[in-house]
Amino acid sequence: MTETFDIAIIGAGIVGLAVAEALAVKGRRLVVMEKNDAFGQETSSRNSEVIHAGLYYPKVFLKSSLCIEGNRLLYKWCKKHHVPHQRIGKFIVATNEEECADLERIGVTAEENGVEALEFLGRMQIKSLDPEITALEALFSKNTGIVDSHRLMQTLLARAEDKGAILTCRAEVTAIHFNGATWDININDGEYRVITKTLINSAGLHADRIAALAGIDIDESGYRLKPCKGNYFTATPAPKINHLIYPVPVKNNIGLGIHTTLDLSGRVRFGPDSQYMSTSQPLDYAVDESLKPVFYESIKRYLPGVPIDALNPDMSGIRPKIQGPGDPVMDFIIREESERGLPGLVNLIGIESPGLTACLAIGAYINKIVSFR
Ligand SMILES: Cc1cc2nc3c(=O)[nH]c(=O)nc-3n(C[C@H](O)[C@H](O)[C@H](O)COP(=O)(O)OP(=O)(O)OC[C@H]3O[C@@H](n4cnc5c(N)ncnc54)[C@H](O)[C@@H]3O)c2cc1C
Repeated sequence: MTETFDIAIIGAGIVGLAVAEALAVKGRRLVVMEKNDAFGQETSSRNSEVIHAGLYYPKVFLKSSLCIEGNRLLYKWCKKHHVPHQRIGKFIVATNEEECADLERIGVTAEENGVEALEFLGRMQIKSLDPEITALEALFSKNTGIVDSHRLMQTLLARAEDKGAILTCRAEVTAIHFNGATWDININDGEYRVITKTLINSAGLHADRIAALAGIDIDESGYRLKPCKGNYFTATPAPKINHLIYPVPVKNNIGLGIHTTLDLSGRVRFGPDSQYMSTSQPLDYAVDESLKPVFYESIKRYLPGVPIDALNPDMSGIRPKIQGPGDPVMDFIIREESERGLPGLVNLIGIESPGLTACLAIGAYINKIVSFR
């Protein structure tokens, strides 16, 4: 069976769904193809669910502009569509003099980037807001929040479907062919075909494989992904905290450091850490209990009241990183591929954090850079 569409999106994670919502208009034929049984079963349901404010990224990065814009759009969306969320606020805590200097630098970069609602707090102010934290100084970001990512994806899909978009699950893209005018996509090894003028690759951890299927040399283009696992632990009993707590990130950070988050039910989680995985292995989400001492050492610097015996392994997620071990921090790649002779193909590569925060801004950005044929 063969079906023809104007736009086909590979991947029903939070970004694929946000792009579908942004591009769906009545009368335009749009399909989202997802290999799993339902939307959002990979990275989009394995993360900290934090609405970031855009504090860390270099100003020229899409990560910075799309995060700041995405933060604004996401609060608006959540309010309008009744998605549970909370502007809970976050501390970045400095526990020694060197970190205090780093914190100053983070504050300067964030303000230059246009991040609003930031405040430096001293030891006593921190204690009065969150008595269990021990820190010399903190940068407090009022616009950092938390969101119910599953409800968010449900509302994005519902809005896209209202405008005529179709989600098809158990539909794995297994081959892609460009005939010079349209894209011919093979699903489930020949079970059916989709023909489309515009093809959007939002396949998360598999986006490099999709780019390769479309004829791109992923090493020469810099699209090869280096999956990087992030493990989480919980604590019983949990510390009583009122805000998100992040350490000062180390240079060329591959993650933001083992932080402490709350979800909307008040559950406290620690993580994620950062561990590169072998690309030849299948994705493994098991959390190794032997990581407990590393988590304990990290957390005790700013939450000294959590005993090591209280920690229990929780879930994990895997970052689709372009940045390999030892590399400098890298930006999202969001590119329409006409210059490679592949018009109508849009690749989204390396959409790690703050991809959830940025999802609506990414949808708006693609609407701007792509001219629909
Ligand atoms: C540990 C961790 C913590 C994070 N914390 C935060 C946070 O607090 N705040 C924040 O803003 N961001 C955070 N992020 C980042 C955020 O989770 C991601 O940027 C976002 O979920 C990416 O969404 P996506 O739609 O691009 O990818 P995914 O959710 O991975 O979706 C891609 C989809 O493509 C499908 N797919 C792949 N290949 C094919 C194929 N061949 N055919 C059909 N379908 C295919 C997959 O099945 C999948 O459903 C975190 C990430 C991690 C790993």
